[in-house]
Amino acid sequence: MKRILKSKTILFLSIISLLTAIFLSFIYCLLVNNYLEIEKNQNIKYINTLINSFEENINSNSKRVDFLIKTNLDFSNQTRVKNTLKNLNFDLVFIKNNKKIDFIKKESLDEKQISIIKKEILEIHPDIINFNIIKEINNTLIYISKRQIKDNSYLYFIKQIDDNLLKNLGSIFSSINVQKNHILNKKKNLDFSSENFKRIDVYTNFNNKKIQNIISFYGINQDFLFSIITKNEATLSKEGKDTIYIFVAIVIIFLIILFYITHLYQKIVKEQNNELENKVEQRTHQIKATLTELEKVNLKLYDLAHTDFLTKTMNRRHFFMHANNAYNVAKEKKDELCAVMIDIDNFKRLNDTYGHDLGDKVLVSFSKCIKDCIDDDTIFGRLGGEEFAILFKNIPLDKAIGKVDYIRKSIEKIEIVTKNNIIKITASFGVADMKNASNIDEMLKKADKHLYHAKNSGKNLVRSRLNLL
Ligand code: GH3
Ligand code: MG
Ligand code: MG
Repeated sequence: MKRILKSKTILFLSIISLLTAIFLSFIYCLLVNNYLEIEKNQNIKYINTLINSFEENINSNSKRVDFLIKTNLDFSNQTRVKNTLKNLNFDLVFIKNNKKIDFIKKESLDEKQISIIKKEILEIHPDIINFNIIKEINNTLIYISKRQIKDNSYLYFIKQIDDNLLKNLGSIFSSINVQKNHILNKKKNLDFSSENFKRIDVYTNFNNKKIQNIISFYGINQDFLFSIITKNEATLSKEGKDTIYIFVAIVIIFLIILFYITHLYQKIVKEQNNELENKVEQRTHQIKATLTELEKVNLKLYDLAHTDFLTKTMNRRHFFMHANNAYNVAKEKKDELCAVMIDIDNFKRLNDTYGHDLGDKVLVSFSKCIKDCIDDDTIFGRLGGEEFAILFKNIPLDKAIGKVDYIRKSIEKIEIVTKNNIIKITASFGVADMKNASNIDEMLKKADKHLYHAKNSGKNLVRSRLNLL
């Protein structure tokens, strides 16, 4: 009972744990994938915002340039142009007339920077009349605008996108840097395009904590302009994972509590069972003791009911019960069966001469003598007074007569010693087999008839239908 309860509980808990594990794995995959997807979409939005910021920057600069052209500024008046340049917040403006180049620059740029910028800028789209682009030169992002003012005369406007401005443009990222080399070998994950950039390749690297984008911008002729690297924390997926961990922790705590409660429950049930078992054991012990007592009493009662009080042999009722049964068995199996009726000779006289108590003693010795002569399988009982009967199983009449005569002789040898005398006794026997007897009563009647003959023939004799002795 206990074992069944325990194994049932273990099975129940195992199923619960398994289902919980499957459920948690499912939830984990679902949520992590969800969070990653949201994070990726967020990152794409951020990249779009960055591209738009670059676009806005280019457009606002371009508007300023167009405004300056419209004012028909006299570039021969250097002072005026310088003031205008200051107001428009450009770092450098230069005019290219055929081969001659005039610079109007801000104080912030030195000669070396100007010569690098000039060299590289003049190489950009020499054949295109007007353009607005951002290009990386010397690890700095530079806005460049080119306008034709006359034949073979061009205006170039240059503005540095310094680190601060770059950070402003990509303020949504925790870090943003210009990439020195053009990365070509990395496989791009995303494609973008915009008004001023024909192509924008994005290589994104996601790991557990960080999202890194390498964004490469390409110009009018698919020419590489610049790359920038942005970095951001993978906050969403991290927070998402933290939430899942908390959720899993709660479920595990719940499971532990469930296990603990079950354990307690089992413990209580076990204790109660033990208590119950002890009680049952006590009761069983008591019942067993009572039953043993009862058995003893029953045996006594049985003895009283079935045993002759004086001789301790079967009483009449008991003898007939066994005799009847033996007759039926013998009849069924076609076995032999012989009945013997016995009567002590001159017993009345003995009683009268020596007293009733001595008569009782004789009866006891007489019974004991017969019991000693027969085996356990032979039925022997006192039918009343000094009359006894024997049933021999599985032996023919002649053999039974032999046995009876042996008993007769044994009885002759009994000596009852009194103060003054040694008393000797004899008995007469009538023997009958199953022949012409359809039940045990008839058999015993026949035996009684032979006994009568024995008495009439002088006593201390064995008589039967064979009259062998
Ligand atoms: P017979 O040889 O013809 O059998 O003569 P008998 O005297 O033995 O026959 P009877 O039947 O006349 O006597 C039986 C006597 O047995 C009568 C009775 O006093 C005595 N008797 C019967 N039951 C008991 C008993 O339990 N104890 C004693 N002491 N005597 C008993
Ligand atoms: Mg008698
Ligand atoms: Mg007698």
